[in-house]
Amino acid sequence: MVKANLNRIKERIARVCSKINREVESITIVAVAKNRTAEQIKEAVEAGISDIGENRVQEALVKFDELRVISYELRLKWHMVGHLQSNKVKDAVKLFDLIHSVDSLKLAEEIDKQAKKIDKIQDVLIEINASGEAFKYGFKPQEAIEVVKDMASLKNLSIKGLMTVAPIVDNPEKTKPYFRMLREIRDRINEHQVSSIKHQVLSMGMSDDFEAAIEEGADIVRLGRAIFE
Ligand SMILES: *Cc1c(COP(=O)(O)O)cnc(C)c1O
Repeated sequence: MVKANLNRIKERIARVCSKINREVESITIVAVAKNRTAEQIKEAVEAGISDIGENRVQEALVKFDELRVISYELRLKWHMVGHLQSNKVKDAVKLFDLIHSVDSLKLAEEIDKQAKKIDKIQDVLIEINASGEAFKYGFKPQEAIEVVKDMASLKNLSIKGLMTVAPIVDNPEKTKPYFRMLREIRDRINEHQVSSIKHQVLSMGMSDDFEAAIEEGADIVRLGRAIFE
C-alpha cells in the first residue's frame, strides 16, 4: 500500500513540476511517521523513501533504535517536524539531521549549546506561523529577518531555511497565500544575504496541500497520511 501511495504521490508531484518547470528531483519527500511503527517506516524505505519525519523525540528514539542498521546503511535522514521542548534538545541533536521547528530564540540557543557539546553543526529551519493562528507555534512573518540575524551568532546552528504549517481549509488553493508568504520571506533573506547560507529552502505542504505548496516553491514536503493510509 505504501508503495502504491508513493507512486501516486510521485505522479502528482511530477505533474506539478512539469507545470512550473521544476525538476522532480529538487523536491524532497519527508515521510512523516508519527504514530506509525518502525515496520511501516521500513516499508516506506523499501519504496524509496530516505527522509523520515517525527514529531516527538521519545517516539523517534525508539524507532531509530529499531532501524539503526538500515538507517546507517541507507543513510536515512531524520527530521524533527514537531514542537521541540528544551529538555528534549539534548537527545534531538544526537538524532536529527534537520530540525524543522525552531520557534523561539531560547530554543535556538539551547540547540546551539547541546550541539556544541557533541561537536555538531545542527541544521535547522525557522518555523513561521504564516496564518497567525493563536494555537500555532512559530515566529511572526514580520519577525523572520531579525530572527535569522539574531541566530547568525550561534556557531553550532546552521539555518537552512523556513518551515510552515498551512491552516486547514476546504480547498487547497486557499493555502497558497501562506505558502507564497513564506517564499517571499525566503527571497528577502536570500536577497539581503541575512544568512551565510545562500539558498534557503522551504519546508511546506502536507498530505492535503502539497501540490499547492510546490506550486508556490516548496523544496521539502512533509507527508504522513498520503503515504501511510
Ligand atoms: C503530522 C505532520 C505532518 C504530516 O501531516 P499529514 O497531513 O498526515 O500529511 C507534516 N508536518 C507536521 C509538522 C506534522 O505534525
